Amino acid sequence: MANKRVVIIGIPGVGKTTLVNRVVEQIKKKKFTLESVVFGTLMFEEAKKLDIEHRDEMRKLPVDQQRKLQIEAAEKIAMMKADYLFIDTHLMINTKEGYWPGLPFEVLKVLSPSNLILIEALPHEIISRRRRDSGRCRDLAEEETIAREKEIARSMLSTSAIISGAPLLIVMNKENQIEEAANQILKALGVI
Ligand code: AMP
Ligand code: MG
Repeated sequence: MANKRVVIIGIPGVGKTTLVNRVVEQIKKKKFTLESVVFGTLMFEEAKKLDIEHRDEMRKLPVDQQRKLQIEAAEKIAMMKADYLFIDTHLMINTKEGYWPGLPFEVLKVLSPSNLILIEALPHEIISRRRRDSGRCRDLAEEETIAREKEIARSMLSTSAIISGAPLLIVMNKENQIEEAANQILKALGVI
């Protein structure tokens, strides 16, 4: 099991993946071993067996099926060994049945995170990132919906922190200031 198991969360479009990549680059320059996984990618590998062709189709499956994929992905991740393990995921998934937790009790128990990091961004920046991301079928939304998603994500986050006992860092990812956001994470993890 990895020493630092860092769960990175944030609603789609906050720039999570880009920010994690930046942090990972910096850690790789030091003498640490590192694994970085996108939770959704591991789920998608299994979902392909169910004839799912695009990662953004997974959230449209019945929640029962998504739960199986979710726990399988968590179990695979929990086996990874490294000084730092980064897990890029979501606090909640917008399913047909409603907002569904990405980090329910079973998943937190398996992942046993040492750190929780929530990435936030300004609503208009989220909207423009979602529009720009042409390779994805993101749910497009207005500022009002973004504000609601953010609120639900935050309420799920406090529960995740209580269940896991992990400290929670909230990082604002401002456009053109990714370096500052990356440094905030690196400091919190004791890398710099
Ligand atoms: P992403 O590439 O991070 O946007 O993730 C793609 C998809 O993976 C999401 O839309 C969800 O369907 C799924 N996913 C990612 N993380 C989780 C999680 N913790 N629990 C359930 N589904 C997840
Ligand atoms: Mg992403």
